[in-house]
Amino acid sequence: MTTLDDLPIRDDLRGLSPYGAPQLDVPVRLNTNENSYPVPEPVVEAIGKALAAELRDLNRYPDRDAVALRADLADYLGHGLTVDHVWAANGSNEIQQQLLQAFGGPGRTALGFTPAYSMHPLLALGTGTAWIPAARDADFGLTVADAVAQVRAHRPDVVFLCSPNNPTGTALDPAVVAAVLAEAPGMVVVDEAYAEFARPGTVSALAVLPGHPRLVVTRTMSKAFGFAGGRLGYLAADPAVVQAVQLVRLPYHLSALTQAAARAALAHRDALLGTVTAIMEQRDRIVADLRARGHRVADSDANFVLFEVGGDRQLRLGASDAAPRPGAVDRQLRLGASDAAPRPGAVDRQLRLGASDAAPRPGAVDQAVAWRTLLAAGVLVRDVGLPGWLRVTAGTPAETDAFLSAMEKLS
Ligand code: PMP
Repeated sequence: MTTLDDLPIRDDLRGLSPYGAPQLDVPVRLNTNENSYPVPEPVVEAIGKALAAELRDLNRYPDRDAVALRADLADYLGHGLTVDHVWAANGSNEIQQQLLQAFGGPGRTALGFTPAYSMHPLLALGTGTAWIPAARDADFGLTVADAVAQVRAHRPDVVFLCSPNNPTGTALDPAVVAAVLAEAPGMVVVDEAYAEFARPGTVSALAVLPGHPRLVVTRTMSKAFGFAGGRLGYLAADPAVVQAVQLVRLPYHLSALTQAAARAALAHRDALLGTVTAIMEQRDRIVADLRARGHRVADSDANFVLFEVGGDRQLRLGASDAAPRPGAVDRQLRLGASDAAPRPGAVDRQLRLGASDAAPRPGAVDQAVAWRTLLAAGVLVRDVGLPGWLRVTAGTPAETDAFLSAMEKLS
């Protein structure tokens, strides 16, 4: 049987596994920061009608430039943005890939401050862009001085900032964005996938766009809109940036069905975004509850919470408490997780980007064991590869109940 290794695949892809969190069939899935609420019935009907209206014309290619959808997205964003400032694609992952195709690529570099979104280095890998892992401080913070010093040292072609940051959940100080923008010689991409969940007072980089043609803000309908299955991400930037990504996008990359569904969803945004406040309440409840139990918890402006499994508590968690791992899925999909099998040096470095190099605190509890214990209690959370820490998505009140009660098993 032919295996992948028999093929003349690129050397830098040899030995890699596809990225992705385990998709396990468990009662409470809080591992991919989805919106737990299903699409409300009136919106289901509206999307259904919008899709039906497209079906007869599926013999034709869609609007290559998705103009109507981009106008709707600009209207949603406000800030005086127009269709010329906005570009859309199949998820913000595709947006960021297009940005790297246009502004990164062979001979160029992209820099991110880890731990951050683990797809950024993987998109760099896929586009032949050399990845530079810059550091955050031990508490996952990023000061103006540290950010500027690292950008100055490496002079990357593309800088990724993530605000609110995944996996920590904390929004960046706008002064960091401004300082990086002033220092960086190339493009600065601010990934705002979770912007709608930010705590009051948080400032979006959208406000900084005027007069900054090298700044790009990426957003998604996957989180606050509860539209992850619809696959719709977008960017806001100077119109010249939109022209740049149009050089590398595939023609007709956004299907007529995607465009129609996303437009119908945007037309019903009040109904869809109605879940945001409820999710923020659960987020704040998780933060407060875990802190009250003595866990260290990162401040969250997102729909998830990063917490230290041990904290100040004395945990007696033995390997024997661990549930068996679901083998097939686990073997297949664990890129970036700390439990990944050892890999050859160069590849390993690439894969671990996004995980912190920080040594666990003395007495820290093994997060992989805690992950399995929670899974055995029917709650799937995310091991992002940070020693001693796990990430949990904030969903419905019932899901929070289940998670917090499963956490009791760790004591
Ligand atoms: N950015 C961040 C920080 C994310 O966490 C995610 C999803 N996990 C994305 C971008 C990509 O989302 P999508 O492709 O669904 O828009």
